[in-house]
Amino acid sequence: MTDLTIRPFFWRPTNLFPETRLVSRTHDGTVDTSYGEFGERVRSLLAALADRGFGPGDRIGTFGWNHHRHLETYYAAPLSGAQLHTINVQLGDEDIVYIVEDADDDVLFVDPGDPFETIERLWSELSVEQVVVMDETVPETDVDAVAYEDLIAEHEPIAESEMPELEEEYPAGMCYTSGTTGRPKGVEYTQKMIYAHAMMVMTPAGLGIEEGDVVMPVVPMFHVNSWEFPYAATMAGATQVYPGPSPSAADLLELIEREGVTMTAGVPTVWINLLEHVDEHGGDLSSLERIVVGGSAAPEEMMRRYDEEFDVTVEHAWGMTETMSIGSVSRPKSSMADWDPSRKYEKRRKQGLLSPGLEMRVVNDAGEDVPWDGESAGELLVRGPTVITEYYNRPQANEEDFEGDWLKTGDIVSVDEDGYIEVVDRAKDVIKSGGEWISSIALENALMANPDVVEAAVVGVPHEKWQERPLATVVAAEDADPDEEELQNHLRETLEQPDWWLPDEIRVLERIPKTATGKFDKQGLREKLDVDTAETEDR
Ligand code: AMP
Repeated sequence: MTDLTIRPFFWRPTNLFPETRLVSRTHDGTVDTSYGEFGERVRSLLAALADRGFGPGDRIGTFGWNHHRHLETYYAAPLSGAQLHTINVQLGDEDIVYIVEDADDDVLFVDPGDPFETIERLWSELSVEQVVVMDETVPETDVDAVAYEDLIAEHEPIAESEMPELEEEYPAGMCYTSGTTGRPKGVEYTQKMIYAHAMMVMTPAGLGIEEGDVVMPVVPMFHVNSWEFPYAATMAGATQVYPGPSPSAADLLELIEREGVTMTAGVPTVWINLLEHVDEHGGDLSSLERIVVGGSAAPEEMMRRYDEEFDVTVEHAWGMTETMSIGSVSRPKSSMADWDPSRKYEKRRKQGLLSPGLEMRVVNDAGEDVPWDGESAGELLVRGPTVITEYYNRPQANEEDFEGDWLKTGDIVSVDEDGYIEVVDRAKDVIKSGGEWISSIALENALMANPDVVEAAVVGVPHEKWQERPLATVVAAEDADPDEEELQNHLRETLEQPDWWLPDEIRVLERIPKTATGKFDKQGLREKLDVDTAETEDR
């Protein structure tokens, strides 16, 4: 028996589907390649890495968007025995320096343009040996840099039989969590973990990726392995469309229309923006069958609109960097097939059923398991072969965030009688008013269901009598002018919760701050609102 490594993920598409297309939007136009070409280029890159002495024990950083060259590094780095460390290009300078130095990256593969300029600016603070610019040329620079295409051109592809032997315990991937407080924490994935997670994602109970799919991973390749699409979709032999640097809604629509994308994935804001764009300019989403939405709660209103107006199914998924992304997906069970649509939405809007391969518990503050009654809430604990049991280099977090091999997710959830998880809040975002929990996610979803609102984020603010009260912020839809009283009435009518859940105030903002992964940045929002954060920060 061979070890569980990503070698067969490379073997299968390159040998069985060499003609299948890989489409990549890059900084200078669209590149159309195939799995056959991909195979050759990855084997050239393997030769180049070997030539420079990179292999087991080395860490290869990448700093770029979703495109074919980045996909090639996703394979060449771990196939060489080294570890691929994907770095978020949208982080601030301080975090980038911290992450690259903490991980002790040996070489960085960097996108041309802004990402390269960032590394150039920070070069004197980094102890990286060399930079590979993921382009045909290198700009004038003091950085020790080579062009990616020169590396490929200068090296003959090594034969498949010459590819290095791998072991399943080799560290193969790494990603830092995008926590809004404290330093980012490094999460490492072994070959075996990637194998297990990509397999999980391929199953019908996972994302059910098939060879006939045209998959467009919008979730960035610097965010939790792009939810494993680069591994799972490649092994499936699916056609893939990589949307390139900072894709706008118009860019995504163009790719969907031109390439006949059937399946795509990303955080809710991307899909809310696409709807807005299509409302305004029109667009053809007829090829699209489903969108996997996760990273933060998918608003039900958005799910309904895709369903009803475009016949596109939104599959709501939950996951974390620590669980290698997808850890649950929400679909009605077969026994619910006859339910009417609105009853099905009650399930579909939840974070869903735990993915195959994992186990979970939900525990209260006393560490006792809470009942699965859809009401009782507690912290979600998960474990399995795709869940980390420690952070890189962080002894204190390792003490606090794990209980044996259970990961304490920090998500406060309830589970209903059918086993569907519902995330009520992040532990640190929970609003506790007069000793009772108020779900900021439920308030946000209810506000976003109002046609005058495109985005909503709710935070808890300190209150003398109730300890904390909710404060809501919204961004108005195009040409709308939402009125606070109307929004309060809307919440009263739709929320199905007592009146003390209603926010004390609803403010209309131009924009709500987002984290580097596109989620609402509650910490940034509190700062912007100038709300005292002392009470909430330490949760
Ligand atoms: P990250 O590690 O940056 O991917 O963040 C993981 C966190 O994002 C989880 O612990 C949740 O708090 C949140 N999250 C992910 N998916 C969802 C979802 N579908 N609904 C609500 N929160 C989510």
